Amino acid sequence: MEKILLNVAAPDIETYIKAGGYRALKKAFAMKPEDVTAEVKKSNLRGRGGAGFPTGLKWSFIPKTNPKPRYLVCNADESEPGTFKDRELLRKNPHLLVEGLTISSYAIGAKQCYVYIRGEFAEEAELLKNAVREAAQRGFIGKNILNSGFDLEIITHRGAGAYICGEETALLESIEGKRGLPRLKPPFPAVVGLFGCPTVINNVETLASVPAIIEKGGDWYAGLGAGKSAGTKLFSVSGPVKKPGVYEIELGMPFKKFLEEYAGGMLEGSVLKAVIPGGSSVPVLTAGEALKMNLDYESVQQAGSMLGSGGIIIIDDKACMVETLLVLAGFYHHESCGQCTPCREGGGWIEKLLAKMEKGEARETDVDLVYSIAENMLARTLCPLGDALAMPVMSFITKFRPEFEAHAKGKP
Ligand code: SF4
Repeated sequence: MEKILLNVAAPDIETYIKAGGYRALKKAFAMKPEDVTAEVKKSNLRGRGGAGFPTGLKWSFIPKTNPKPRYLVCNADESEPGTFKDRELLRKNPHLLVEGLTISSYAIGAKQCYVYIRGEFAEEAELLKNAVREAAQRGFIGKNILNSGFDLEIITHRGAGAYICGEETALLESIEGKRGLPRLKPPFPAVVGLFGCPTVINNVETLASVPAIIEKGGDWYAGLGAGKSAGTKLFSVSGPVKKPGVYEIELGMPFKKFLEEYAGGMLEGSVLKAVIPGGSSVPVLTAGEALKMNLDYESVQQAGSMLGSGGIIIIDDKACMVETLLVLAGFYHHESCGQCTPCREGGGWIEKLLAKMEKGEARETDVDLVYSIAENMLARTLCPLGDALAMPVMSFITKFRPEFEAHAKGKP
């Protein structure tokens, strides 16, 4: 099994260089920036933050004739419940990210790169700052990097704990010193982004995948994985399994194999009941649906959910689905920025009704009411946070309706 991201545990630059680190950067500087972008396009690398948008294509949206400065922004605000794979990458291999940032900045012509790192990631922020310092001392960032004529400054910016700042335009607002409120789109950040300038925003894992693509070629990377889901991907797995943690696998692996061989199978006495495959904001799958799917974008979609961030949450037969959904609803309601009525009001209403249901104090009609509130939130908000609550609600009720009905009939 090919490993690209967690192939070495190299928090310091010496170990990273010994393992072949910064070779790809030298190779990139021997190429034209547009050829670096072309190689990334060829690789079929898709954004690993959740949306799965083709990375090379995103880079090519930067207007070529706009005279304003360009920015690369790395989204390290990993806050989705169940997702903790970027944290592992930052801890184990921060130089891989620094090398990816430098190559990607060169490709898009950005002389400043911001890494927006989750406020709670104090240790990871220090590791990254240290990696940036070490890379600057060795001449891998700074002025005239490796005599290429290219200058780059990398700035780490810590968030203050708001989940919504992981949304790309809220993140830009936050870097600009404002409250993290998502912007209305268009214009998209590629045209009007950070400080009103063309900006590419990519996730940690996406940018850390770039050095291997440049070193070994886009065709090589495209040959890994499964068709349109190229390459390797990190999956974090949590819940009642024997070996929760972060694993790098080639996309396309059967979920059953991942569960048994990587996560170690279910804990003694636990039976798989449901799976949330891509972080808590995607639709839940029943055990039967999950055990038939492969871990790639297309297969998870066919099963009725989304690969999202790759944060796999395992739910066993002891879990109450009403209580589980109540926890999720509480989270998304709390994290709503409040700009849109459906998200601000709908989230609170759903949470209140689920809390009553959980205690056995709801009315029987409340099951349909909760579903209909979620249905009316879907695709009617400024940013995806509204959908992030609506989709789990609708899928939980559709797939586990008898549990909701039993609670609504008075069973706490
Ligand atoms: Fe804010 Fe929610 Fe609207 Fe997103 S969907 S902009 S979080 S109110």
